[in-house]
Amino acid sequence: MILATIFTYTISPVTVIAANKEPETLGELKNELAALKKQKSDNEASQKNTESQIRSKQNAINQAEADISKAGEEIEEAEQSIEDSNNQIALLTEDVKQILEFYQQMKSKNAYLEYISGASTMTDLVMRIAAIEQITEQVQNKLENLKDLIKQNEQLKVDLAKKQEELTSKISSYQARIKELYGDLESYDKFALDIDTQIKVVQTQVDNYRKKSIEKYGKEVDTAKLSELDANPYNAGWLKPLNKGKITSTIGTRWGSYHNALDIGGNPEGTAVYAAAAGTVAGFVSHYKCGGNMLYINVVVGGQKYTTYYYHLLKVNVKVGDVVTQNTVIGTVGGYSTSTAHGGYDTCTTGAHLHFGVAKGFFTSTLIRNNVITPPGFPNSTGYKFSSRTDYYGK
Ligand SMILES: [Zn+2]
Repeated sequence: MILATIFTYTISPVTVIAANKEPETLGELKNELAALKKQKSDNEASQKNTESQIRSKQNAINQAEADISKAGEEIEEAEQSIEDSNNQIALLTEDVKQILEFYQQMKSKNAYLEYISGASTMTDLVMRIAAIEQITEQVQNKLENLKDLIKQNEQLKVDLAKKQEELTSKISSYQARIKELYGDLESYDKFALDIDTQIKVVQTQVDNYRKKSIEKYGKEVDTAKLSELDANPYNAGWLKPLNKGKITSTIGTRWGSYHNALDIGGNPEGTAVYAAAAGTVAGFVSHYKCGGNMLYINVVVGGQKYTTYYYHLLKVNVKVGDVVTQNTVIGTVGGYSTSTAHGGYDTCTTGAHLHFGVAKGFFTSTLIRNNVITPPGFPNSTGYKFSSRTDYYGK
């Protein structure tokens, strides 16, 4: 039913540079822990860088929006100016009309006579006529200027509208970039989740082997071989981790994430979970936000090293360093009350189930990623049911 998306293959903007070789000594294990911490801080730096890019693009959008609104105001001013010019043109046109009418009347004989009788001298008359011509010319010039002004404002409006259009398209391209950057951020978050889990597990391993080294040699020996510090019990074969159950989800990529285990449902919370093979508890992460209580047990079966892992546990009965047998109840099924859907903390489950996985090699950050196998005794297909720990698929 449900997913635990830890240790995924999802494409991330950060290249995972983890050890490609299983650490064999305490020193190598410490180096792996240091490498993981370096990846974590690199990822955080990339995250900060992306966040600052988002901020700068957001600022550019704000600036463009301010420019658009300023251009809008300028367009309104231009429109106001065009309106004013048109009003002035109307007034002046009326003036010119009246002056010209008056001038025409002047030039007609009657008006000339009428006017001449009004003028005290001939010079006065000539001057009056000249004045009228001058005024007419001035008004004509003014009209021309106003028409030019209107033309300029019309052009300004066109330019400003074009500018607004350019700014709008700039904003959409910035918004698209921001969307991309948020996508990157999501990958960084996802990577952070993975790397945090790995750091926690490897840290518990380092602590465990330090303690064992001190017990055995009286001090922390970096060259101490982990295989010598570990006691790995013999296994004749695999058993199922539950007395019964049904596969509800398989191993593989789904919804863009890699699901690294089988989900086994059909058991209520609190049902006993056994170690599928005897071995040493290699790692434990408690109350993780995607996976809950996650237990990793290193086992050797048929001379091959494996890591077995059990997620969403309600209760965990063992601790890192413990040696468990196939009869050890390592914990109990959880995934319902622990889910965020039902008031819990685990975002990667919604119902009671066991997320059970097997990877070749002892637990390291890369081995789980690259060496997941279908747990022996199971098919990788949903609907498969079993009713005893010894049921084998394909019989
Ligand atoms: Zn799962």
